[in-house]
Amino acid sequence: MTAPSPTVSARAAELRELLERYNYHYYILDEPLVPDAEYDRLLRELVELETRHPELLVPDSPTQRVGAAPAQAFTSVAHATPMLSLDNAFGDDEVTEFDRRIRTRLDTERTITYAAEPKLDGTAISLVYEQGLLVRAATRGDGTVGEDVTHNARTIRTIPLRMQGNGWPERLEVRGEVFMPKAGFEAMNVRAREAGEKTFVNPRNAAAGSLRQLDPAATAARPLDIFIYSMVDALGLGLTSQFESLQRLREWGFRVCPEGRQVAGPEGCLEFYQQMGEGRDDLPYDIDGVVYKVDELMLQRELGSVSRAPRWAIAHKFPAQEQLTTVEAVEWQVGRTGAVTPVARLDPVFVGGVTVSNATLHNIDELHRKDVRVGDTVIIRRAGDVIPEVVKVVKDRRPARTRRIKLPRKCPVCRSDVIRVEDEAVARCSGGLYCAAQRKEALRHFASRRAMDIEGLGTKLIDQLVDQELVDTPADLYRLTQGQLAELERMAEKSAANLIAAIEKSGETTLPRFLFALGIREVGEATAATLASHMGTLEAIASASIEQLQELPDVGPIVAAHVHAFFQQPHNQEVIAQLRDGGVQWPAIEVAQEAAEKPLAGLTIVITGTLDSMTRDEAKQRLQALGAKVTGSVSKKTSFLVCGADPGSKRQKAEAAEVKILDEKGLDQLLQGDIP
Ligand code: NAD
Repeated sequence: MTAPSPTVSARAAELRELLERYNYHYYILDEPLVPDAEYDRLLRELVELETRHPELLVPDSPTQRVGAAPAQAFTSVAHATPMLSLDNAFGDDEVTEFDRRIRTRLDTERTITYAAEPKLDGTAISLVYEQGLLVRAATRGDGTVGEDVTHNARTIRTIPLRMQGNGWPERLEVRGEVFMPKAGFEAMNVRAREAGEKTFVNPRNAAAGSLRQLDPAATAARPLDIFIYSMVDALGLGLTSQFESLQRLREWGFRVCPEGRQVAGPEGCLEFYQQMGEGRDDLPYDIDGVVYKVDELMLQRELGSVSRAPRWAIAHKFPAQEQLTTVEAVEWQVGRTGAVTPVARLDPVFVGGVTVSNATLHNIDELHRKDVRVGDTVIIRRAGDVIPEVVKVVKDRRPARTRRIKLPRKCPVCRSDVIRVEDEAVARCSGGLYCAAQRKEALRHFASRRAMDIEGLGTKLIDQLVDQELVDTPADLYRLTQGQLAELERMAEKSAANLIAAIEKSGETTLPRFLFALGIREVGEATAATLASHMGTLEAIASASIEQLQELPDVGPIVAAHVHAFFQQPHNQEVIAQLRDGGVQWPAIEVAQEAAEKPLAGLTIVITGTLDSMTRDEAKQRLQALGAKVTGSVSKKTSFLVCGADPGSKRQKAEAAEVKILDEKGLDQLLQGDIP
């Protein structure tokens, strides 16, 4: 053993400080700064330093302690029997080694029976019952002193307030794990994301954070569950094994994990590990490994504990599902429906059993919420079959001069405009007819029955046509020859001829069908019909402003924005021109004229503020039904401004332009067909 050099002491001090800080964020704030794998790596490094240089070991080293001292906000509870942590085994040999240590200490050659249980990934709780009634619940805290969370625990429906059965002692303490089932965790995070609130990194921190709420009503709103895994002083109650004590707990009304079993020796342990590892993704809750406990309680007593963990148990961890890595680039992918989504290209990292080099960032809002930048160190999570995701950025490892990432203005595939309509999280490429990423989907929709109705042109055939580069856009369909088709797989001459005929026939269409076939976002059959009947020609629709489009019944700002953006794209215009050159045509349409006879014909109305009796949309529709035009902004041409509560700047504009302002009574009058 050599004396530690100043650099070694400095490293030990640095590790202690780092681990201290990570402990605080993990145990007190329930918001880890780094993944467990990173924490464990640093802890191991400190253990090794302390083993090599015992003089470095200080009594309050993170290697000697359990958890963290209770937070001030809670009443403290002293644990008569300390709540310890567990030692970890990361490989099979460490399990064999554990068993050998046990047998050496017990001085026996016989096979040890172990209680093998899933290691639930939640937070430890102690529950005390007196006369069968729950009187106190506490967190583990630093193992000696925990936090009183009785009121919160009472809101967890699977914690019995009153024990069942009989034979229980006057006072009983049990311990277990409060956890958040996977489904509840996902749902809670979706809700939080929608509400723009903070999301939890993983179910473990979600469970700990939810249990440690200052307001029990907040805990009650969280989907928490519990499994009890130990009975304090089971030996004193005449029980002989861990397994038996779990049975007894079940009889007394406690929820006990059904997966646990007795196994023989390290081989039995490893078999259990493998089984649980395989079944892990199918369990409704998260486990981060399994725990082996010497089953016989007498032997447990004989083995005793060291400062932070019992000698008779060990946690065998699964490969970590969270790791640190760096973001090398953020790229934008265009989905088959035009959704433009950010993807992080990563320095490859082994996580959740596979090497991950890309992770989804979902959408631009999510990217900005997490503020992921190129060069950042991030936590990557890959749980089960779920696609890997960037959980969060480790902000204090951010290099200098990074830049916030912006939504690209042009589609990375086809250079059409990327548009993002207000209130929509997803940004989209507006070059639907031309964009290579959207090709197959655009063709499938174009050919579908309610669109151009090209009989015989199904998904498989479209795949072949695109893959063999015979067709890029719908316009190419009208240039196909029978010879080209006959060369495709499983395409007989007869069917090639039939398809050519079907394509030709589809060219005789109607404007609404054609509009629908273009696959413009938000333009379904009904909207296509409205556009056609009110505007009459494709040219009129293509050149209409957003404002003009919004004047049409049932066309709101989102639809108007999509229609406008679509027709603005030169590539889309080209494809449409080619389609018409290729023979696609439709009969002219009589624009609905009857509006002139309606009572409010000729009026242009703007609505602002909140109405009492109906929504603005409803008012718009009813006014339009009576022949009025309803527009979005006040101008000299506006006949009336209908003004509800809390109007915006439109009211001032109307006053300035001397437009007559109506209240809801005035609106009522209009809706009766009277012009005030
Ligand atoms: P632990 O969670 O690894 O193991 C002990 C705990 O396991 C017990 O307290 C108990 O709550 C739980 N457990 C689950 N199932 C059990 C069962 N069947 N029987 C008995 N106990 C069961 O240990 P710990 O001391 O709570 O925490 C250490 C862990 O926390 C490490 O994995 C470490 O990486 C992580 N940690 C991470 C950070 C970070 O910043 N990411 C910081 C501190 C700790």
